[in-house]
Amino acid sequence: MQTHILGFPSIGKQRELKQALESFWKGNLSAETLHETCTKLKKHHWQIQKDAGLDYVCSGDFSLYDRMLDMTCLLGAIPPRFTPCLGDSSLERYFNLARGNTKLNIAALEMTKWFDTNYHYLVPEISANEQWIDGEHPVVADTLLAKELGFSPKPSIIGPFTWLTLAKAQSGALKWSRLETIISIYTKLLIELSTACDCIQIEEPILCTQLLPENVKDKFREVYTALNTASNNKLMLTTYFGALVGRNLDLATSSNCAVLHIDMLRGCQQLDDVLNKLPDTMALSLGVVDGRNIWKTDYTKTTEFIKQAVSALGAQRVFIGSSCSLLHCPVDVSTETALPEYIKNRLSFAVQKCAELTTLRKIAEYGNDAALNENAAVLQAAAAHVESHIEAVRKRVAAITPAMTDRHSAYPERRASQRWLNLPLLPTTTIGSFPQTVEIRKTRLEYKQGIISQEDYVSAIKREIKDCIEKQEKLGLDVLVHGEFERNDMVEYFGQQLAGFCFTQNGWVQSYGSRCVKPPVIYGDVYRKHQMTIDWILYAQSLTQKPVKGMLTGPVTILCWSFVRDDLERSEVCKQIALAIRDEVQDLEKAGVHIIQIDEAALREGMPLTYAEAEIYLQWAVDAFRLASSGVADSTQIHTHMCYSEFNAILAWIAKMNADVISIESSRSAMELLDAFTEFHYQAEVGPGVYDIHSPRIPTVEEITGLLHKALKYIAKEQLWVNPDCGLKTRQWEEAYPSLENLVTAARLVRESLTKL
Ligand code: GLN
Ligand code: ZN
Repeated sequence: MQTHILGFPSIGKQRELKQALESFWKGNLSAETLHETCTKLKKHHWQIQKDAGLDYVCSGDFSLYDRMLDMTCLLGAIPPRFTPCLGDSSLERYFNLARGNTKLNIAALEMTKWFDTNYHYLVPEISANEQWIDGEHPVVADTLLAKELGFSPKPSIIGPFTWLTLAKAQSGALKWSRLETIISIYTKLLIELSTACDCIQIEEPILCTQLLPENVKDKFREVYTALNTASNNKLMLTTYFGALVGRNLDLATSSNCAVLHIDMLRGCQQLDDVLNKLPDTMALSLGVVDGRNIWKTDYTKTTEFIKQAVSALGAQRVFIGSSCSLLHCPVDVSTETALPEYIKNRLSFAVQKCAELTTLRKIAEYGNDAALNENAAVLQAAAAHVESHIEAVRKRVAAITPAMTDRHSAYPERRASQRWLNLPLLPTTTIGSFPQTVEIRKTRLEYKQGIISQEDYVSAIKREIKDCIEKQEKLGLDVLVHGEFERNDMVEYFGQQLAGFCFTQNGWVQSYGSRCVKPPVIYGDVYRKHQMTIDWILYAQSLTQKPVKGMLTGPVTILCWSFVRDDLERSEVCKQIALAIRDEVQDLEKAGVHIIQIDEAALREGMPLTYAEAEIYLQWAVDAFRLASSGVADSTQIHTHMCYSEFNAILAWIAKMNADVISIESSRSAMELLDAFTEFHYQAEVGPGVYDIHSPRIPTVEEITGLLHKALKYIAKEQLWVNPDCGLKTRQWEEAYPSLENLVTAARLVRESLTKL
């Protein structure tokens, strides 16, 4: 039996990659030093895998920014707008694609969530006339380096069907017509890699979705048979994030690849079918260690699966690995020194997961009762802990009634009741956060470390709020926000105040590029211990006549962006959180806050990958939002914010959330989401983001007026709001302020043109 992981987090235990990248972008670090830092990290990660006793180390998993982008650069599919920077070095070109080019006013590639994870990839673009230039992929050099250093590398690349399905065809380009060109580049790459390794991981997570077009499926077998031959029979066709759906199981088992990898965490139900269909020439890799969560593997349960595969195939033909890349989990539990032992005991991060695989192999090969029993004891102790089951919380959840998920009146009546807010046509607002300067971060950190007193902390944050309100007044925005300076992160902030959550010190996970998040851990029953936001909002409101929005994070987003206990249904955990947020919403209203935004940034990304599972999820997710938001009077305006572009398909569900105003990301995809509004009559108000906050570029007045006029073709003027497409915390004031100036000017111009009509 052989062991492997599908990828190690690139970012580094101390987020070394983040620091290096950001210094490089600021011009404080040379390309050579950046390269050295990366090499050091790679070597370290390989060493960890080898020391853990794994048979392979992964290469090609390390990316400077994003692995989809790595593939795009190899294929050389560079959208025409980047033509002015084709002469740059490949490194500059790479970062231009990733982050846009401010000087040349070129927008970055669009970014979107990787399947149902909180990782964002850069979307390849295929237009009628993109430039295909000769590119390179870091996997080649990295594999050779690993080999030279005495490791046994297993290169990993994203497969052609996944890359092309996720690529976006522009101006009518037929993207699948590029398949042949692409396959020839893959073929060359595989021939090159096959000389340096015994196994090549080629990832087709798209097979776990229903996204692959039927006519394309017809080519799958032929393409993979040829690719496997090019690799000298070394391909591990790698699937993850779900079971192989429908016909895709047949595609995978008839692909003639040497190995098939399946996700046993999200698709264990497929094992019997896979074993039945697997041809004798194919080995099977079971992804048994969860790449997307932080809990120790249940050895007893897992060993059953392994035994089943071994008895069907023989140990020779079985691999065990992580379910997906460990990119989605933090690096090392051993650096956690502040967690209570009863929680730390249950945790397993990337480093520990590597070791778990070796232990599992030993258990399966020679039996190891001591390891099995110890593991079982840890899991039992966790289940029996007092915080795992709190009677009062369970009772309150059981007593939820349908009326609690409904506002008093339907939207048209609520609209009338909200007229007293006196907002102008095309009201302007922002999504919540404002630039988080170095000083603000320092203040929060010093408070956390006990260096400054609570009093000093509160007055420092109040100074920021005051400054932010003054700036918004000066800009002339209509609905203001307090700026979220007290929040390190929109989920962490709430988790810190809710029962049932705990926090790691270093549990960072890459979100996109150099950006990381440190998801909270939900280990027990959740309830609100005290008010969480009221004082800050009231302080902000005391400084202005304009309305200040109360800012909360919604239950689904808190759930999706946390590591969630695996001993209670996610939908149940979500109800517990929703009740806690509902309490806060009602307290805000009581305190006189009449516009309340409940962000559900993650609602779409939490959606399972198949239609049937997605329906079930959307039902309980939307209900949880409604439970959190419906306890207020008609005259209180509920906003929600969602940041993703692939939203059209679920607009009906978004309407069911029953918010009064939604703001959505859209600028990177040039407002194409607006199409949805022609097909679906949405009656409440909408703020499609008019500029992309992920890029430092300052949008012009003309650009924004253009987008607003375009939006007005789809959305009635009474329904349209004007706002950026997400919070501004990652931007500098030098970018945010002029951008918002242009936004307000554009709104005024369009407003004037509308009233003149
Ligand atoms: N209110 C949050 C902010 O502005 C929303 C962030 C998000 O959608 N990711 O930062
Ligand atoms: Zn957002």
